Amino acid sequence: AQSDYFFVGGNWKCNGTKDSISKLVSDLNSAKLEADVDVVVSPPFVYIDQVKNSLTDRIEISAQNSWVGKGGAFTGEISVEQLKDIGCKWVILGHSERRHVIGEDDQFIGKKAAYALTQNLKVIACIGEKLDERETGKTFDVCFQQMKAFAGRLLLLIDVSSLVDYIVTNMVVNWDDVVIAYEPVWAIGTGKVATPQQAQEVHVAVRDWIKKNVSAEVASKTRIIYGGSVNGSNCAELAKEEDIDGFLVGGASLKGPEFATIVNAVT
Ligand code: PEP
Repeated sequence: AQSDYFFVGGNWKCNGTKDSISKLVSDLNSAKLEADVDVVVSPPFVYIDQVKNSLTDRIEISAQNSWVGKGGAFTGEISVEQLKDIGCKWVILGHSERRHVIGEDDQFIGKKAAYALTQNLKVIACIGEKLDERETGKTFDVCFQQMKAFAGRLLLLIDVSSLVDYIVTNMVVNWDDVVIAYEPVWAIGTGKVATPQQAQEVHVAVRDWIKKNVSAEVASKTRIIYGGSVNGSNCAELAKEEDIDGFLVGGASLKGPEFATIVNAVT
């Protein structure tokens, strides 16, 4: 990992109250964060405005989900346009909880990513295998399939069903706006972190996939971050691996000082 390249995101999930978030923001505002590292936090929708109005500009804000197209008659959804309006720069898409608890599929997630990018909302694109998939040797296949669903919408690797798709996909190819998060499902929220070698192996394979299916240039510059039970004690070892370009942090991102330790892990 290189510090001028490092990216750390805090995914607060469906946690917090006005009070607890106010405390977390004040801890983050007073934390010393390594200058070169890109830092993003992802509060629940209802607190984004509060966080935007109180958090230092040093840290960018991400949503945890977005609607697949332009807003309108979609009860309960939040549009990309609304997220931009309240100051979000990023959105997390394809998180395992949305895939496996809520039931979003590859195609829907790919469409969301393409739409967000057309509106200049940057995407943290999550991929990762379940335990049984790892145990049956399917880790790479699952990750590549999920990558294809993201990249395919952006680069026409898979079916283009209409001219509109063609125009949209060609307009939005900006890989600078995409961070890939490798998050093995068995490691998320379980306290069971992947070993640095396990993570590095998948990151190399994903980078190689990007090289073969997109381009060598995109492969070398795209940040591939790791997520799954990262904490203040295991982050330094993981950050030493060459292809781990940062972290997506769940539980430990709810504690300001520990999150700052993770941001600074690269030094
Ligand atoms: C996540 O939700 O993206 C995550 C990695 O969670 P945790 O760090 O709690 O495992």
